[in-house]
Amino acid sequence: MKESRRLKDLRKQDFLPTLLDFGPLQFFIPRHFGFCYGVENAIEISYRALEENTGKNVYLLSQMIHNQEVNSDLQNRGIKFIMDTDGSHFVPWNKIGKDDVVIIPAFGTTLEIEKLLLAKGVDVQKYNTTCPFVEKVWNRAEKLGKDNFTVIIHGKPKHEETRATFSHSSGNGHSIVVRDMDDTIELSNYILGSKTPAEFYEAFAGKYSTGFSPEQHLQRVGVVNQTTMLASETQAIADFIRQVMITKFGAAEIKNHFADTRDTLCYATNDNQDSTYELLKEKADLAIVVGGYNSSNTSHIVELCERNFPTYFINSDQEIKSNEEIQHFIYNRKELITTFSFLPEKRPLKIVLTSGASCPDTVVDRVMLKLVSFFSQTNPIDEVLAAY
Ligand code: SF4
Repeated sequence: MKESRRLKDLRKQDFLPTLLDFGPLQFFIPRHFGFCYGVENAIEISYRALEENTGKNVYLLSQMIHNQEVNSDLQNRGIKFIMDTDGSHFVPWNKIGKDDVVIIPAFGTTLEIEKLLLAKGVDVQKYNTTCPFVEKVWNRAEKLGKDNFTVIIHGKPKHEETRATFSHSSGNGHSIVVRDMDDTIELSNYILGSKTPAEFYEAFAGKYSTGFSPEQHLQRVGVVNQTTMLASETQAIADFIRQVMITKFGAAEIKNHFADTRDTLCYATNDNQDSTYELLKEKADLAIVVGGYNSSNTSHIVELCERNFPTYFINSDQEIKSNEEIQHFIYNRKELITTFSFLPEKRPLKIVLTSGASCPDTVVDRVMLKLVSFFSQTNPIDEVLAAY
């Protein structure tokens, strides 16, 4: 179905969801969902690294992508993770030497880690799976730094990609990370001088580049983002900062103080978010979003679905225990909970089903088929998919 729609709409003009009608159960599937170019590429390179290096230690700097199934499969085939997603080590650096293979994940890595590996004689380019859309953000940040703008990175401070972008961008100028609008409002106090530098260093501890002076380095700024943030949030943050700069320096001077960069979301995040907005127009009874629990882009799809539907964020079909019970993740509390009677009695029952950029489509298939198995007298799958 996905491939058929792709071929019929190569220029991506049509963002309407597909209705899969099983009779008593109907699914709304978004036009775009699941695996992106960067993830497919990274997985392909990782399997190749394993094939080409039998007998060697093959390490991944951290989780390849934020998907437990894919990561477990890679581990079962012999790949070892050096670090956890938050940077704590499974394998200490002193265990890694020049004969080992190290794969750089799709989010990229920091300049510091790259240097450390190069110093050990490890080839960091051969299996570098850094997504070109992440590199594009680094290039944008580099250009801002060279033009003497401080880079404000809208991202999750602990996310590997934001850490990598921060490191690359700090190589060319000053940088600071804001997680959300609250952080941005706090930052505006230091742009306008209504709070002291001492308060700045406390409020933004660990989120600014070495030598950052709030008095000097908030005079010229530009905004980039982690590629998987919510587009509307980044836009709101950029608009807010622009307005703050106008308040401080006047509209006539804005070009000297605010670099008008467009958001740096990747195409997959944009397509998946735009398709989710179309899903929100449907009259569905609930939504199921499939993806890794630490996946940023999936969490934003969940956030959007929650605006209109009771939403269940699951990482695989295993979380659906029965037609009565589902285990699902509450992203903002980082908590797995169980909900009973999650499928209303209504017929046909209408379910929005989607997934994040790090979720294989086979997992979505399994979720769909498991749900269908709870219903009797459903239309056969060949018939449901006949149009595709
Ligand atoms: S979500 Fe976007 S930036 Fe991240 S790996 Fe996929 S295509 Fe690349």
